[in-house]
Amino acid sequence: MALAQQAQQSQEIPPEILDYERTYIETRQGSRRLYEQAVQVFPSGITHDNRFLQPFPVYCTHGQGAHKWDVDGNEYIDYVGGHGALLLGHSHPDVVRAVQGQMPRATHLGAGHELEIRWGQLVQQLIPSAERVKFTASGTEATHLAIRLARSFTGRTTIVKFEGHFHGWHDYATAAVDPPYDVPTSSGVPEETLATMRVLPADLDAVKSALSQDDVAAVIVEPTGGAWGTLPLDEAFCRELRRLTRERSVLLIFDEVITGFRCAPGGAQAAYGLGSAGAGQSEQTGWSLDMPDMTTMAKILAGGLPGGAVAGRADIMAILEFDGGRPGWNRGGRVAHPGTFNGNPLSAAAGTACLEIVAQGEVHRHVNALADHLRRRLNESARPFGLDGAVYGTFSMFHISLDRSLLGRPAGTRRYAKSKGAVDAKLRRALLIQGVDLMGTGGMLSLAHTEADLDRTVMAFQFALTALEREGAL
Ligand code: PMP
Repeated sequence: MALAQQAQQSQEIPPEILDYERTYIETRQGSRRLYEQAVQVFPSGITHDNRFLQPFPVYCTHGQGAHKWDVDGNEYIDYVGGHGALLLGHSHPDVVRAVQGQMPRATHLGAGHELEIRWGQLVQQLIPSAERVKFTASGTEATHLAIRLARSFTGRTTIVKFEGHFHGWHDYATAAVDPPYDVPTSSGVPEETLATMRVLPADLDAVKSALSQDDVAAVIVEPTGGAWGTLPLDEAFCRELRRLTRERSVLLIFDEVITGFRCAPGGAQAAYGLGSAGAGQSEQTGWSLDMPDMTTMAKILAGGLPGGAVAGRADIMAILEFDGGRPGWNRGGRVAHPGTFNGNPLSAAAGTACLEIVAQGEVHRHVNALADHLRRRLNESARPFGLDGAVYGTFSMFHISLDRSLLGRPAGTRRYAKSKGAVDAKLRRALLIQGVDLMGTGGMLSLAHTEADLDRTVMAFQFALTALEREGAL
């Protein structure tokens, strides 16, 4: 029986939880052994920076629904959700069936195929701003392509990006990811490249003054806020950002790699009501004036397999065409976009199966309501520790900030710190040993999560806070 369940029955906090650092090591010896092998293969033993955890991360074997298991047989309620890709949970039967059906038919045809068309049509149907679509192999590739399109379309170079907003790992996206935002998140990026990015705080006055200069091609934004809403933004910000960019003929890119198909079937833009009648339309294109010009997607888009996309205004996406009306298209006049795994049949099969369920709309009602309930219950648990309000978030996402200096400020005006401090890693380990796996300092829910999962999570959170408080870490 999981430790949290045992304790729930006795209402006593077991010593194993109080001594969570030791428990972590003792009950994860299989992971420790794999880590020792892994560091001989991969730098720091991991294949994605965010999977790093000291003294070693857990190594998993399989997942089902909202749960996954590690090599030591420990079960977890999974709030990482394939880094946000698994809106339907692990191995949803429709997705499994679609991929199994495609596998013997071909994993790569080196040609166009019917499934990629259906996949793209679903994107057009669901995402308000998706007049045309181009598939990529990842979210990083999607933001890279959107930036290139913006520069080509406008003939300008500068891209405005906000502090703490994450757009993948290509060179341009390394600017100002981690506080205090003064150095790029990676070395090895030329100064000249970084000089083409203008970093701003998420502040509309700062945007106004930056856009008064003539060299800005586009503004890119995570519409629910930096790092999937860790630094929250709302609809009003996005609407004003759209108004300001439109006034200056600057393109607006919504990076919906996380929020696309998660906040609503049509992503954050649909959840915010953008693209609905009444916003006014462009005289030339008929384009609804409150929508982003381009949207980047990945994760849920491909149903848990690799894949990404850029979608947007037909006149912008036309630069990708071979006869896009640009002189010298074969001599650099168009935007080039190859990519071996673009529109891959397996990803198309998984993505189509997933988006067909998303299109029905029921998923979001369930997942958003469940997340709302979880945020409320976690905050109730945090209250006795003087941490009411530490849990926040929107739609099916939640974040935990144990930084007391931020509490008590009115929601919306808080400038949450994106810390990767020791206390966050402690909370993570204290929850892991109780069978709860967070994505950093928060989590994403899926269709497969249940009230029973919430009960276990809340109990684990209470115990984790108790353990942290007793060791003086809170
Ligand atoms: N943009 C956002 C908002 C993201 O959250 C991510 C990934 N977490 C990316 C872009 C990059 O996507 P990928 O990891 O598929 O390259």
